[in-house]
Amino acid sequence: MARKNYTGKDITVSFDLDVCQHAAICVHTLPAVFNTKRRPWILADAAPAEEVATVVSRCPSGALRYELVQH
Ligand code: SF4
Repeated sequence: MARKNYTGKDITVSFDLDVCQHAAICVHTLPAVFNTKRRPWILADAAPAEEVATVVSRCPSGALRYELVQH
């Protein structure tokens, strides 16, 4: 499965299900953004971009990545 992008106004988060180890750090730390019961399951704008970036960088598998949107 290919890496999928979730684009917000300040940050774009991408996710690769094949890489995810289901450690659930993302959903536990920032459920407003990461919620597997919702589609799309990532809402990149549901928290400040710095908070989203911090959680993404704590993903142990590298399944999550981010890129800040240049304004
Ligand atoms: S933190 Fe990373 S490895 Fe863990 S569930 Fe989220 S995307 Fe998957």
